[in-house]
Amino acid sequence: MRFVFLGPPGAGKGTLAGEISGRCGVVHISTGGILRAAIQKQTALGKKVQKVVEVGGLVDDQTVTELVRERVSHEDVVSGFILDGFPRTVTQARCLEDIVPIDYAVSIVVPDDVLVARLTGRRVCSACGSSYHVLFAQPKREGVCDRCRGVLVVREDDKMSAILQRLTAYRAQAEPIVHFYSEREKLVSLNGAPPISDVVLEFQERFAQSR
Ligand code: AMP
Repeated sequence: MRFVFLGPPGAGKGTLAGEISGRCGVVHISTGGILRAAIQKQTALGKKVQKVVEVGGLVDDQTVTELVRERVSHEDVVSGFILDGFPRTVTQARCLEDIVPIDYAVSIVVPDDVLVARLTGRRVCSACGSSYHVLFAQPKREGVCDRCRGVLVVREDDKMSAILQRLTAYRAQAEPIVHFYSEREKLVSLNGAPPISDVVLEFQERFAQSR
């Protein structure tokens, strides 16, 4: 099965996609994750997108679309995938139709105050990229990664000014994309406000019903 996960920053797309991919054997593809890895390694792509990503802006459609085209050409996606963070514009959604058809677009809905609380508390490991939260997913030792002992930091784009820009950018772009998938009868709406374990169960129930 091929899914697109839609939702504002902090909606839990990445966490949910990780859970579902583990249970269903589909590959989790996060465009934000790929871009951050490129920035960390300072590849040509990383250098090109660094500034835009760090201020919470959107990388241009062509760059991100090519990245997805390349990623879904790998053999490991045969059993399906979850696209997390793509498409973010209608242009990207149209390009995706030409690359590979998807089965469902899952729109994860969360109120703004919950989103801000989630994003400001997020911490990531500066060495391996593992994700933590000051309230919901604390490491064993404060500020230190459980997996690799790396230092936990606040992502540049999880700082308040970038968060507000990301939410504004999301709102401006989201409506037409939701409409795009709704018109094609591929849209499934999901309440992302409850704890993640409940959202996973809800997803499984809804998805089982819509199959
Ligand atoms: P995310 O982890 O999905 O929140 O993505 C982090 C950042 O990567 C975003 O704020 C954008 O700067 C960039 N990014 C990720 N996916 C896309 C996309 N589909 N289109 C444009 N920019 C993207």
